[in-house]
Amino acid sequence: MSAQAKVPLFRLLPEELEPVMAEFGQPRYRADQVLRAAWHDSPASFEDIRQLPAGLRARLADRFSLDAAIEVRRAVSDDGGTTKLLLRMNDGTLIETVLMQYPEPGDRHPRSTVCVSTQAGCAMGCVFCATGQMGFERNLKAEEIVTQVLHIARLLRERGEHVTNVVFMGMGEPLANYAETIRAVRLLTHPKAFGLGQRHITISTVGLIHAIDRLAGEGLQIGLAISLHAPNDTLRQRLVPTAGPTSVGDLVSAAKRYFKKTGRRVTFEYALIAGQNDSEETARELARLLQGSGTHVNLIPVNPTAGGYGRPPRRTVLAFERVLRGAGINCTVRVEKGSEISAACGQLRTDESNRFVNDSGISLSPVAPRHGSRQETLSPTPSQTR
Ligand code: SF4
Repeated sequence: MSAQAKVPLFRLLPEELEPVMAEFGQPRYRADQVLRAAWHDSPASFEDIRQLPAGLRARLADRFSLDAAIEVRRAVSDDGGTTKLLLRMNDGTLIETVLMQYPEPGDRHPRSTVCVSTQAGCAMGCVFCATGQMGFERNLKAEEIVTQVLHIARLLRERGEHVTNVVFMGMGEPLANYAETIRAVRLLTHPKAFGLGQRHITISTVGLIHAIDRLAGEGLQIGLAISLHAPNDTLRQRLVPTAGPTSVGDLVSAAKRYFKKTGRRVTFEYALIAGQNDSEETARELARLLQGSGTHVNLIPVNPTAGGYGRPPRRTVLAFERVLRGAGINCTVRVEKGSEISAACGQLRTDESNRFVNDSGISLSPVAPRHGSRQETLSPTPSQTR
């Protein structure tokens, strides 16, 4: 069998691997052994899975690949709480993955959230988003989504920590790559694969209504975040040009249906952009829209490097929050500590490319250093959302 024809092992759900073991004449428990080693021990090759008989290792190597993402760049925030990675896929496609860590009380391990990309580039064209301006390159396969998590899991394991949460908020619109996104969720949450609890996963969408309804019917207990950014259609269509005929009212209704079907509360992401959607009057309009919806609002001051759109002053952010809270809307402001670098909407690749080209004259694409090759300390970057 040629190398091109090999099936990526990280694409297979356990129930898809088990028949292969039967075909190989192996007892059922061998599938569990393979999966445990592949998902939790980061073997570089099947040869490294020494608990398997040599003949089985050879047959697996002939049929399957264990492709891992290659780390091209790494950037760590000043306090070490956020790590941005630029990862290269097999075909050279560059995508971003971010690890965000939050201390937990006592001696417990930090909460470690991985923000994954589901597409290279994005077709949604949000005006404040560098990825949106980059345009759409291609969908990522499920195995390319999960290898982002596996790469971070390996980094964490080396320091005795583990992945606690995964958010689908990196580059791209997850629900525009629906089948691969759902397969990735099932791989990440399957007890015999990565084994993360479903409630520890959140998908963020710009608001594809039919896909939200479909997601609600998947029988999953994952969280949903919808990017709203505006309380009325005129403003939203200016900020999210591909919003098309979907109205803000449609989004609120979809959120209610999702909650009714899954029991999971929906978060509305609201990127605060100076002079665009940050006035107190706009906050009052937003409060009226969301009144009684039972949703949560996450206010995210926009990244000032994105598309020439600026972040409002702190007092404007707090005033906006005050109006919402005063109207009884459940609401938080994403913390803008210097130690935090968020990557909620996948704007890192462009920023990183510019940064590295500007700062060092190194172009990203032809470089292929080994894992963990280079550490950079970034200056504080505000949080960002899709
Ligand atoms: S904000 Fe999110 S949905 Fe909008 S263009 Fe950027 S990556 Fe795409």
